[in-house]
Formats: sequence, C-alpha cells, structure tokens
Amino acid sequence: MQGLSFQNTYVDLPESFYARAKADEVPNPTLITFNNDLAQELGIDFSTKTETEIARVFSGNVTPEGASPIALAYSGHQFGHFAPVLGDGRALLLGEVISPKGERFDIQLKGSGTTRFSRRGDGKSSLGPVIREYIASEAMHHLGVPTSRALAAVRTGENVFREQSLPGGVFTRVASSHMRVGTFEYFASRRDYDSLQKLLGYAVSRHYAHIQGSEELALDFFREVAKRQAELVARWMCLGFIHGVMNTDNFSIAGITIDYGPCAYMDTFSDSKVFSSIDHHGRYAYHNQPAMAQWNLARLAETFLNQLSEEEKKPMIEAYQNELVKFDELYNQAWLKPMRAKLGIERADNNYDKTDAGLARLWLEYLQKEKLDFTISFRNLTKVLDPSASKDEFRKTEEFKNFTTQWKKRLTQENKPIEEITALMNSQNPLYIARNHQIERAIRAAINEDYSAFHEMNQLLQNPFKEQAGMEKYTLAPLDHEVIAKTFCGT
Ligand code: AMP
Ligand code: MG
Repeated sequence: MQGLSFQNTYVDLPESFYARAKADEVPNPTLITFNNDLAQELGIDFSTKTETEIARVFSGNVTPEGASPIALAYSGHQFGHFAPVLGDGRALLLGEVISPKGERFDIQLKGSGTTRFSRRGDGKSSLGPVIREYIASEAMHHLGVPTSRALAAVRTGENVFREQSLPGGVFTRVASSHMRVGTFEYFASRRDYDSLQKLLGYAVSRHYAHIQGSEELALDFFREVAKRQAELVARWMCLGFIHGVMNTDNFSIAGITIDYGPCAYMDTFSDSKVFSSIDHHGRYAYHNQPAMAQWNLARLAETFLNQLSEEEKKPMIEAYQNELVKFDELYNQAWLKPMRAKLGIERADNNYDKTDAGLARLWLEYLQKEKLDFTISFRNLTKVLDPSASKDEFRKTEEFKNFTTQWKKRLTQENKPIEEITALMNSQNPLYIARNHQIERAIRAAINEDYSAFHEMNQLLQNPFKEQAGMEKYTLAPLDHEVIAKTFCGT
C-alpha cells in the first residue's frame, strides 16, 4: 500500500526465529483512532486514505504491499518459571519502517488472530486491552520515557470470549524492536548457539552499533542492556509506574517499556503496591522492580555463559557478576537524577549521594505513612515554597516538618530563585497521569461505542506537565468506590 513502505530484516534471519502467519479476516473493522503525529514521525503518509481503508490495514484484513507478516519466537521466565516456547501468540509483525530520521521501527498488530505460538489462546484481543495500551503507552512516551507506541486502534466488529463476550479490537504497536531477554533464552535453551550469535549480531547492529566489532561482544551488549534497563526502571519508579509482568519475555533488550498488560500508574503511594491479579506473591511489586530487572539481566547473562566451555566459563561468570553488581550503582544513579529534579535539586555530575537520596526517601516515607497520592503530592510540593499557597493537602506531622526543614535547607545550596526551582519541579512532576480508574472509564464507554473519554485522555496526556483548562478531574485520585485495586492481563 502506498504511504507505508516496509523492510523485513527480521525475516532474513533463520526460519527458526519466527513463524509466518496471516491475520484473520474480521467482519467489520472500524477505526477508533489513528495516530497521525506518530505516522508522520515514521514517515507513513496515509493522508489520501479513508478511515475505512486505514481500518482494513490495521485490523489485518488487508496486508499492505511489502509486508511479510511473522510471529516472533521467544521463551521466557514467567514469575520465575521457565517456559521454553512462548512467542507471539496474538501478535503479528508486519515489517519494519525507516523513519525520516533513519531510525528503524517494527509495526506490529496485536489481537489479529492465531499464530503457531497461540497454544490454546484465540490470538485475539478484546477492546479493553487495546484502549488501555493505547492510552498508557502514549502517556509514557509523552512523559519522556522510552516505550513502544500506539499507531492505531481498531474495533473488529466481532466478539471475543473472555469471562464474558466482549467486543474485539486490534492494536497497532510500534517499537524500536521486539527483541526480549526471552528471545535470547529461546536459542540458549535449545543450545542453538549459532542462532544465539546471529541474534546477538542482529540486536547489536540494530540497537548498539557503537560496540560492533568488539572482542567481547556479548559482554559489551550485556553492559549496554543493563544500563538502559537501569535507566528505564528508574524512570518508572519516579512516576509511580508498576509494570506488573516483568517476565523475561516482556523485558526488552532495547531498554523500552513493552507489554502494557496489568500495568498501572499508582495513585496512593505504597512501596509494596501490587496491581496484577496474578501476582500473588508481589514478585513485581513497585519496590521489587529494580531487583526484578537485575534478575532478568542475570537470565540474559546465562544465555551467553551457557555456550562456553567449563574453562572459558569461569572468568566470564565473574565478568557478568561484576556487571550485575554494578547494576545497583547504575540504578541508584539513574533513580536519583530525576528524583532530584522532582525535588527541585540539581547536581552537575549527577552522582549518587546519600544525603539527596535520603531526602527523597524521607518524602516517600511521608507519602506512604499518610497514604497520599504519588503524582499530585509531588506536584503540590512546590506549594510548600509559596507563602501564599494553601497547604491543606499536607498533614503537618513530625515527618513532614522534618522533611521540609531538610529540603528547604538543601534548596538554599541551589542558589537559585524560587521560580526556577518551581519551574524545574513542574517540568518533572506531571499534573496528569493515566490513572487506572480513568482508563477503566474510557474502556467502559468505548465498549458502548463512545470514544470521547478515550480521545480526551489521549489529547490531555500529550502534555502531562501543563495545566489544561477544564481537565481538573484527571488530576484527582479516585474516590473510594472508584479505586481499581486489581488489573488483569487482558489475554
Ligand atoms: P503476555 O502476558 O501478554 O506477555 O503474554 C504471554 C504469552 O501468552 C505470549 O506468548 C502471548 O503471545 C500469549 N498470549 C496472550 N494472550 C493470548 C491470546 N489471546 N491468544 C494466544 N496467545 C496469547
Ligand atoms: Mg508479552
């Protein structure tokens, strides 16, 4: 199809990397939304296409010219247990596009029918997860955090059966790639080391071209992935974001957020908060996310270690262990940088220091103790610096006084006018996030073919730091009866 031109480099990899598949025909695809801004960034020109034509492409009914649809093979550790064959059971990679800036992106349909990896699943998606992923991933992007993105949402006109019959949808995901730790595990667990090397070479050329030709390619690659993941998880933590299913099959080697299943941007702050209905032991609780990232990285290291002889292994185990130990440091530094800015503090070298970290922790402990909303409390913190502002939202406990005294003292070292400090804080503390109860409201309306809340949220969340008229309801924490305590994978 004109306006969308594909390359298919993943298809050039050996056949064991994927399974060819075709999207199911759906009865009546209608376009809910098409992300024109993203299309433009990708160099996709659909300006001459009608909505019906666009819906046909992004439901899978029409395979665009040049596409070579495949489902990717991967394994994964799910909640700590290894599943040797997972793969894209409800996703279909159409191909890659090269943006005008020369960057490569995968275009993938989610919910377009079965593939060789579907097992007992139907390969479909209900509308809820389509709406959820669209809102949550675009919100993440506009918060400045690396993520997959949303190009289109389509209603299929057929129902899918979950616990009940629900309208079906297809989501179009865009990502710098869909390679995961689980992709490496797939080949390592089969002892197919030739493919493992090919995958490594491909991943490096796609994401870490600067280390190409290195003598310790796997180790260097590992170091790069660890660095990006440390930065990614640190950003999540500073937004109160809980991914919910940090299994190795959902853990990107490009360091982007993928798989918005049971995720949530937290309302009331709790360090041990869990949302996912299937996360019974709190494995992916908010405060466990950095440790789980490290655990996933250890699984990636093992894929490279497995192929070595006993003799070669010894020194390399130590080398990978050193990198894993460094992850703590990397993470702490990556966490403190945005956390400092959230508190109006800067430090030129961005190094970790216990005093600033301790200050941030004091504040978080106060939020937890008082059961305050993560997002709005950070946003309102500037009021403490404004003598004329009401500060009713904060109970003036000992902890509060202790924190504000230390914080104000620390701010004097910044040597900056209050306006500059406030501006920095407001550029880091969003006013609007994709709150779960609002997403649920948008889903309920969408099921009834009312997409106004969905559109409104997408529009609003493009500028999460800027106050927008008439949008106050999106700043509010849910009322007791609106609280969503559990989230579901949506499979
Ligand atoms: P997820 O929890 O979304 O990461 O999915 C884990 C695995 O289950 C992946 O291999 C998915 O492709 C597969 N899966 C999830 N939902 C479905 C479905 N409706 N049909 C087939 N496979 C699915
Ligand atoms: Mg997944």
